[in-house]
Amino acid sequence: MVRTIVGANWGDEGKGKVTDMLAESSDVVVRFQGGANAGHTIINQYGKFALHLLPSGVFHQNVVNIIGPGVALNIEALISELESITSRGVPMPKLLISDRCQVMLPYHIDFDKFEEERLGKSAFGSTKSGIAPFYSDKFAKVGIQVCQLYDEEILRQRLEIALVKKNCLLEHLYHKPQVDVDAMVAHLHQLAEKIRPMVCDTTLYLHKANKEGKVILLEGQLGSLRDPDHGIYPYTTSSSPLAGFGCVGAGVSPRDMTDIYCVTKAYSSCVGAGPFVVRLEGEEGDELRRRGGDAGEFGATTGRARDVGWFDAVATRYGVMVQGATEVVLTNLDVLGYLDEIPVCVGYEVDGQVITDFPATPTLMRCKPVYEKLPGWKTDIRGVRNYADLPENCRKYVEFIEAQCGVPIRMVSNGPKREEILYR
Ligand code: GDP
Repeated sequence: MVRTIVGANWGDEGKGKVTDMLAESSDVVVRFQGGANAGHTIINQYGKFALHLLPSGVFHQNVVNIIGPGVALNIEALISELESITSRGVPMPKLLISDRCQVMLPYHIDFDKFEEERLGKSAFGSTKSGIAPFYSDKFAKVGIQVCQLYDEEILRQRLEIALVKKNCLLEHLYHKPQVDVDAMVAHLHQLAEKIRPMVCDTTLYLHKANKEGKVILLEGQLGSLRDPDHGIYPYTTSSSPLAGFGCVGAGVSPRDMTDIYCVTKAYSSCVGAGPFVVRLEGEEGDELRRRGGDAGEFGATTGRARDVGWFDAVATRYGVMVQGATEVVLTNLDVLGYLDEIPVCVGYEVDGQVITDFPATPTLMRCKPVYEKLPGWKTDIRGVRNYADLPENCRKYVEFIEAQCGVPIRMVSNGPKREEILYR
């Protein structure tokens, strides 16, 4: 049985909390795409953590955590993240790394920085963690798989092929020092030894685990609108954050995926460049940003202030659709308790018309939000333990969003902590 947690929007929907929560009843938690470029915030009995690369099951001793072949593996980041949790009292988690997973190389990170610098004003708002150069190399077939780290001859050969082009770009386009093959081989050799005991065929492991009736949880990063095909290209990421890709990036059969939990916030937040129709400027936005999340809406990886806005039903309905969600998890509902009225974006105005289907980027850039206002509930709902005990206007808000999404909302989160969840 494979359950998948993905984001409906631009990322930061609160997937980390939901994964940490559902990990309790899972045997395996798998990261299937992306790398250390986004963060999940988790607050549990050990404290508050921002995980970037580790699967969110690492706080549960019963869970086997897997870095699937679709992930961009930054070995140094992984090791330091492991140290950062174990040094705070979390027992060493069970962690497996796919031998087919590819390795984030130091020059991927450099190229990411150099390219954003070169693009200047037209930069894509990269987190500069090497993601785009990494996936470009993977699909250009000049990447390095984890299994190749353990054969020096192959590794050297692969790097020599890749470095011809890299060094040419470094010298002539970016005017930076070249990369030396010997130094790179030595660096990778030392990193490879640190992860050796965790490396295995995780695809085989997952297929066996599934056959044995184990519960497998796939953990997506970012959200639908960052998908390179279905998102707001080119303001997307470089691997697919969709549940459909989960099967590929983790290594499970699509036939085994039973539940797709699509997480969305009760308002919108977006970090990075690109069109964001509901962006709120001024004091209204500042207040929502201050009140959002567990400590304001600031990126878990970069610390960047996130743009915020009211719930975007057009974008979310689309995001939920492309995920193939079986249910929606609505988070951060408690944040809206200060408002007399809550606007919800129910359409986009463009070229004198109101549309309700999410368009492709050039049209999206010209869209203006059309709002419908719902009455607020003006109370703090943190601490409420049963859905039925929520104020009536609050329940009406949830029902309105559910109708807009067209998929049942079965879980509503009313605080950042693991236990702050209401079931419907
Ligand atoms: P992820 O990348 O989808 O895991 O999301 P992040 O962890 O980056 O962002 C979600 C933010 O919302 C974090 O600050 C969480 O601690 C916080 N959060 C999650 N659920 C809730 C909730 O129901 N209420 C509040 N107030 N904060 C929440």
